[in-house]
Formats: sequence, C-alpha cells, structure tokens
Amino acid sequence: MSDILVVENLKKSFTTGDKTLTVLDDVSFSVPEGASISIVGPSGSGKTTLLGLCAGLDVSTGGSVSLVGIKLNALSEDDRAYVRNQYVGFIFQNFQLLPTLTALENVTVPLELRGEKQYKKKALDLLDRVGLSDRAYHYPSQLSGGEQQRVAMARAFISSPKILFADEPTGNLDEETANRVTELLFDINRSEGTTLVLVTHNLDLAAHTERILQLKGGKLISDQKSMRAV
Ligand code: ADP
Repeated sequence: MSDILVVENLKKSFTTGDKTLTVLDDVSFSVPEGASISIVGPSGSGKTTLLGLCAGLDVSTGGSVSLVGIKLNALSEDDRAYVRNQYVGFIFQNFQLLPTLTALENVTVPLELRGEKQYKKKALDLLDRVGLSDRAYHYPSQLSGGEQQRVAMARAFISSPKILFADEPTGNLDEETANRVTELLFDINRSEGTTLVLVTHNLDLAAHTERILQLKGGKLISDQKSMRAV
C-alpha cells in the first residue's frame, strides 16, 4: 500500500526577537494509506506543531512533508489550502467552531468552500451519525463540550477526507463521551479507509491505533507497533 504521508528530516523553529526555539528536530516517518497512528509525548514536545505541518496548516523550516504525493513545502499558501480542502480533515483541540453559525452550518462549511451545492442532507446524515440530529439548529454556545467535539468531527468527516488529523480528540471529555468519539473515529477508519493521525494523551485511544510515535523535546524517540497491531 502506498504512503499517504511522508515526513522527511522535518525541522521547525520559531524566532522571536533574537531568540530561536527549535521545536522539531530531524523528524522522519511515513504513514501508509488507511493506517492509524498516534503521536504521544509530554506537553511542549512538538506534537501539535508536527500535526499542523503534516496537515499543511503551517510550513517547516527544513525537511519536507508529502501529503497524497504532493510536496507541501513547494506550494503557495493558496495551493496548500486547496490540498487541505480536497484531502484533509482536521479536528482541533479546542474545536474551533464558528460561534455565529448553527451546528448544521458549521458542518457544511468545508463543502461550501469547495463550491458544492447539495450538502444539507449529507450534513444532517452526519450529525445523525455522531448522535446529534436533535442539535442541528443549536449554536455552539448552546452545546456541551462533548457535543461541540462531535460537531467538529462531523465537519471534519463531511468532505470524505483521505486523511484525518485530530489534536487531542478526547481531551476534556468524560470517559463515556471519549469512548464514543474513539468508536466514531475507528468506524470512519474501517468503513471509509480514512487514514487517522492522532495526537493524544489518552493511552486507551493510542492503543487503538496501529502505531505509536513518541516525541520528546522535538525529536522522534520511538515509532512502534501498538498492542492492537502486535
Ligand atoms: P505539544 O503539542 O507537544 O504540547 P506544541 O507543538 O504545542 O507541543 O509546542 C512545542 C513548543 O513550541 C512549545 O515550547 C511551544 O511554546 C512552542 N511553540 C508552538 N507554537 C509556537 C509559535 N507560534 N511561536 C513560538 N513558539 C511556539
């Protein structure tokens, strides 16, 4: 099976004033299409930064990221946005729902960006799949954290992404909701073949993925099969 994501000698540093902080240092790994991996490591080890670079939300200082065979470093910001709209779903740590839009409208945003017209039924079906059919016309402020997280998932799924990135998808959720979110992610992975790349502190969730990558101080210190794959 071909690799949907190839990360080679990735480096990222941030410069503030005369100080340069290296956040990722020579990180390399690849992910076959349809696989599931977790990225774990202490706070500040560079997990969120790595996820953003892999998804084309930001560009590296060195090395390269190829997503669906496209080298992201060589692209303009507009072209990276196009690649994201076509192939990528992203679930942010703090959901990033638009507060002035209903749950349904939040879910349809990616398809509107693509210029598609027939999206309402698809969005309602997805809200049903994440167990929120009775919340379609609620605004984010009227939803619990777990409900907002599921709206964010429906929004990430609606464009049938080839690869889904999720930053702490079960963070701040109670155990029951976290289990439900975990089930949904792997349901999409199995039924649609969507590749999953997750950042998580939740060892249960990580154990569900096939591989676990461990970051420490911006370096990849291990890349191992999880218990599920052993
Ligand atoms: P993690 O997700 O593992 O907690 P992050 O990727 O969020 O780690 O952050 C890694 C390091 O990079 C932290 O020290 C953080 O302060 C720093 N960092 C992240 N984004 C920026 C930025 N835009 N400017 C400066 N430093 C940043």
